[in-house]
Amino acid sequence: MKLVFLGPPGAGKGTMAGRLSEEKDIPHISTGDIIRGAIRNQTDLGKKVKEIVEAGGLVPDDLTISLVEERLGKSDAREGFILDGFPRTIAQADALKKMTSLDRVINFQLDDEEIVKRLSGRRVHKASGRTYHILFNPPKTEGKDDVTGEDLITRPDDTKQSIEKRLEVYRNQTAPLISYYKEEGILTDLDSSPSPDAVFADLLAAVS
Ligand code: ADP
Ligand code: AMP
Repeated sequence: MKLVFLGPPGAGKGTMAGRLSEEKDIPHISTGDIIRGAIRNQTDLGKKVKEIVEAGGLVPDDLTISLVEERLGKSDAREGFILDGFPRTIAQADALKKMTSLDRVINFQLDDEEIVKRLSGRRVHKASGRTYHILFNPPKTEGKDDVTGEDLITRPDDTKQSIEKRLEVYRNQTAPLISYYKEEGILTDLDSSPSPDAVFADLLAAVS
């Protein structure tokens, strides 16, 4: 099953991709996680893009396209994958089309007010990318990852200013992909405002 999760920041793509990846045993490929890993490890790519990412801008297409090409080339992605956060531009979608075919694109829908609430309460486990919310999806112990017990952090781009920038970037550069994939006949809209369990049930139905 080859899937793309499309939608604004904070819509729940990463949370649902984590759950679906376990359920279907296919890799969850988040370009955001890959890029944050590069920043953390201070690779050449990481150094180049740190400021852009923290300000809520997009990493240049050529860089993200090469990252995804390399990742999709690994053997675990042969049978299927969930691409979360890629493509984000028409150029990325055109490049992806040359790399592989897709079964479905899930369009996570959530209004701006809810997005801001979700992003301002988001907490993450840096090493794994596991995501929590202080109110909507709290960890078992406050501030600690459920699996490793390590500290959770607030993402440096989950500030008010960066959230506003990311929403603007989403509207201008990523939202056009909705009609792009609608025209291809592979888009399914998913209301991501209900509880995580309810959204996951709808997601399972959408991909079955
Ligand atoms: P995205 O990957 O689309 O940016 P995340 O999966 O990181 O979004 O989710 C953003 C925040 O919203 C996280 O704090 C997450 O725990 C929380 N969240 C995810 N799904 C739901 C939901 N259905 N209801 C309430 N909060 C949710
Ligand atoms: P995410 O974890 O999906 O919210 O992504 C976090 C940040 O990583 C984005 O705001 C961008 O700066 C960068 N990023 C992730 N995926 C892409 C992409 N496909 N194209 C460009 N930038 C990306």
